[in-house]
Amino acid sequence: MAGFVRDLILKNSPEEYLSSSITPLAAYKILKPNKKTVLHDFLESQFENELEYIARKTDEVEIFESLLKDYNIYFSIDEIDLEEENYSSYLVQKIIDNILTNLTNETFQILFSDRMFCLQFNKIIAEVIHSYKLKEHSEILKKDGVTKRCNYFPVWVSQAVFFRDKGCCAVCLSDLSGLLKTGYNKAIDHIVPLNLGGINDITNFQLICKSCNSKKSGHATITSELYPAYF
Ligand SMILES: [Zn+2]
Repeated sequence: MAGFVRDLILKNSPEEYLSSSITPLAAYKILKPNKKTVLHDFLESQFENELEYIARKTDEVEIFESLLKDYNIYFSIDEIDLEEENYSSYLVQKIIDNILTNLTNETFQILFSDRMFCLQFNKIIAEVIHSYKLKEHSEILKKDGVTKRCNYFPVWVSQAVFFRDKGCCAVCLSDLSGLLKTGYNKAIDHIVPLNLGGINDITNFQLICKSCNSKKSGHATITSELYPAYF
């Protein structure tokens, strides 16, 4: 699932299709981080669409049955009246009711750890925000195409970003943990800047050192695929 969504965002889908499946964006998620992120919403709707698409296109129900078995969810053809309901729609509904949240959370764990994915995902959102006008979206915008800044990061946000980036600057990899060096200076940075239509969702945040932060202007979208080695 994570591979499917990663390909969708990084490789081969027309951006108009993606931005229409990301919108409408919930205003409160644009303004400040929410534990059910914009990416969670996108994953849920992609999975639902994909399940319904597979169910329409094929009579093969094994894929649905094996998913339900993986999660130990009970299903049986005896539960439905075949004259009224079709077996594959029954299985899809079981998946949506019982597994979708788990599937979304698990996929989020994988994709959130991939900063390059987060950058690309937020660039698509930024194109949508950038087209918004202040007079129609005054609750979320500071000016045309620019989201209001969130001035307060909840602890769960700074901890998750610190943990994901392993206490190192996302751009230069310098150690910001404060364990072995004093004088470290860390900041939470918007991967896609607010000026370019970035939003205050945790998928758009990274850990950065003060020096990289001051070199990065409000008009530059920068991250890296650098991660500290395990050994
Ligand atoms: Zn740095």
